[in-house]
Amino acid sequence: MKMIMLGAPGAGKGTQAEILSKELNIPTISTGNILRAAVKNGTPVGLEAKKYMDAGKLVPDDVIIGIVAERLAQPDCANGFILDGVPRTIPQAEALEAAGVQFDNVLSLEVADEVIEERMTGRRTCHACGATYHIHSAPSKVEGVCDKCGGALEQRKDDLPETVKQRLAVYHAETEPLKDFYEKRGLVRSVENRPTIEETTQAVLQALGL
Ligand code: AMP
Repeated sequence: MKMIMLGAPGAGKGTQAEILSKELNIPTISTGNILRAAVKNGTPVGLEAKKYMDAGKLVPDDVIIGIVAERLAQPDCANGFILDGVPRTIPQAEALEAAGVQFDNVLSLEVADEVIEERMTGRRTCHACGATYHIHSAPSKVEGVCDKCGGALEQRKDDLPETVKQRLAVYHAETEPLKDFYEKRGLVRSVENRPTIEETTQAVLQALGL
């Protein structure tokens, strides 16, 4: 299974991708995670990407295309993969096509902007281990402290309210047109947001015929 998770930032792509990845035994490739690791390690790509990420803007296409090509060439991708957060622009989708990458499904997670804003601005991330929490729906036992490692919880810069608004605007302008792009290729399966992660997973599995 070669598939793309499409949807606004905060739509739950990463969460559902991880579940599917275990179910199907194929890797998830998240450009957001790859870029965050690069920023943390202070690599040249990380230094270049950080300014865009902190501002809620997209990292330039050529940087992303390079990252994805390198990752897809690794042997664990031979039997399939889930792309999470990429492609995010028409040129990225065209570059994948030009490289001969063919997809079986493009899963579109549909979530209203207001729901996304509430979700993302309430998200807290552990500075030390990366575990995520939500101040309303999944709070840590002690406010501001990670349950898993005791590290300090912080709000990712790109989860600040103004940045979230910016990221949603970028999503509508640059990423949403991909739905049309892949619809023309007959690949899009849409799933509406459900109240819980489990219910959304059920809907996702059904949409994929699994
Ligand atoms: P994410 O965790 O997928 O929401 O990504 C976090 C940030 O990384 C985004 O706001 C972008 O700045 C950058 N990013 C991740 N994936 C891409 C991509 N495919 N194209 C451009 N920028 C990306």
